[in-house]
Amino acid sequence: MPATLIDGKAIAAAIRDDVARRAAALKAAGRPASLVAILIGDDPAALSYSASQAKSAAAVGIDYRLDQLPAGTTQPQALAAIDQLNRDRHITGIMVHVPAPKPLDSFALQQRIAPEKDVEGVNAACLGLLALGRDAPVPCTAAAAFACLKSTGVEIAGKHAVVIGRSAIVGKPLAMLLLNANATVTQCHTKTRDLAAHTRRADILFAAAGVPHLIGHEHISPGAIVIDVGTNRIPLEDGSGKTKMVGDVQFDSVKELASFLTPVPGGVGPVTVATLLANTVAAAERHGV
Ligand code: NAP
Repeated sequence: MPATLIDGKAIAAAIRDDVARRAAALKAAGRPASLVAILIGDDPAALSYSASQAKSAAAVGIDYRLDQLPAGTTQPQALAAIDQLNRDRHITGIMVHVPAPKPLDSFALQQRIAPEKDVEGVNAACLGLLALGRDAPVPCTAAAAFACLKSTGVEIAGKHAVVIGRSAIVGKPLAMLLLNANATVTQCHTKTRDLAAHTRRADILFAAAGVPHLIGHEHISPGAIVIDVGTNRIPLEDGSGKTKMVGDVQFDSVKELASFLTPVPGGVGPVTVATLLANTVAAAERHGV
């Protein structure tokens, strides 16, 4: 029987409804949730991402502001801008669009965000709390992939979860979430030998390598849950020069073996966007309490 598809748009809609209810309660209590995004320079992709953030924040009642700094901003100036937002009691959430233009140090900028306002969960303190199994903002994509798994209702404890990828924003926090939920976790990366030997032993497989169609049916054991985090643009075969988005998983063949599967697009992606809003409202709830 083909896999049940995990509907990321429906999961995202449920998260947004919950966020809207909580944001309204905060506003009524005179403590509105707010998010300031810092963008250094005028990268068109970041500007377009910011415009879509502004729209989705407005739709759930979160105040959103883009603080755009000139391309020539120095590291001390950028750090000072973050410090000012950290001190501002009316700002409850902060994020920095990365990568910042060279020679700025994007890592240092993100680490400067006060952990309690770090809605992307990229601060070392947030990742440390997650590693310790404590409540903390979780990087949005990892949280979204985990929410897709949870939406299946399948018990996680005791299952063997395999995560392909070990980045600080996806693979590592995802492995920590799974461990905290009592899964047995294997983490794979480019130095892993015989990837398929590991993935075939997975009850739950997360593909977050960023390699189009890396995972085929030979990587999957029948009945596995497969969450495809990859978002890769590849050229259309019609020679038009246009591209399409594909995941790390060969959808058509894996669908015949897996029990649950996320599509790309329409799987983890929409949930990631909603998770930023959820992290923002959660930061506002904690703020000043
Ligand atoms: P990344 O920083 O490039 O990390 C990729 C990870 O995958 C690395 O740990 C790398 O191993 C591993 N890897 C790469 N090729 C591999 C292979 N052939 N076999 C085994 N492991 C391999 O990427 P990321 O930021 O974690 O993102 C991962 C994917 O998620 C990308 O496709 C990205 O576009 C997507 N993404 C999706 C969303 C969403 O909302 N759906 C959001 C963010 C990112 P090494 O550590 O050894 O290099």
